[in-house]
Amino acid sequence: MPGLEDLYREIILDHYRSPRNRGELAVPPAHVAEGFNPLCGDEIKVFLDVHDGVVADIRIAGQGCSISQSSASMMSAAVKGKTVPEARRVLAAFKAMMSVHEAGLDGAEGAADDDLADVKLGDLEALRGVVKFPVRIKCATLAWNTLGQGLDEADAG
Ligand code: ZN
Repeated sequence: MPGLEDLYREIILDHYRSPRNRGELAVPPAHVAEGFNPLCGDEIKVFLDVHDGVVADIRIAGQGCSISQSSASMMSAAVKGKTVPEARRVLAAFKAMMSVHEAGLDGAEGAADDDLADVKLGDLEALRGVVKFPVRIKCATLAWNTLGQGLDEADAG
C-alpha cells in the first residue's frame, strides 16, 4: 500500500507534468508579477485578472524545477475563483506551513496560526515535506510570494 509520501510525490509530479492554468493574460487589464529564485534558477510569472474583488482568472508562465512549477500550478488552482482576502489567507496558511521549522527559531505565532486553522490546503499539503529540505523552501514559496506581489498590484489598481 503506497504511503503518504508516495501520494504526495504523485500529486507534485502530476502538477509538474500537467500544470494547471498555464499561459498568459493580456496586460492590461490583467496584472502581472514576476518572481525569481536565484538559488535554483526558478522563474515564475503570475497573471491575475481581478474583478469585483475576485480572482476571476489566473495564468502561470515561467520555468524551473519541479517543486517551483508544481507549487505554482497548485497555487493557481487553489486561488482561482476566490476573493482577494480569501486568496491572501490561503497564501498566509501556505507560508505558515512552509515555515514550521523556521518558526521554532523566531517564536511560533500562535495567534496567526489560529486565524488560519480553517483554511483548507488540500493538495497543497503535498508540499509539506519540502520543509525538510530548507534549500528547496524558496522553490515552493516563489509562486506564492509572486502571487502576493500581483495581489498588491491589483489592489493598487
Ligand atoms: Zn527550484
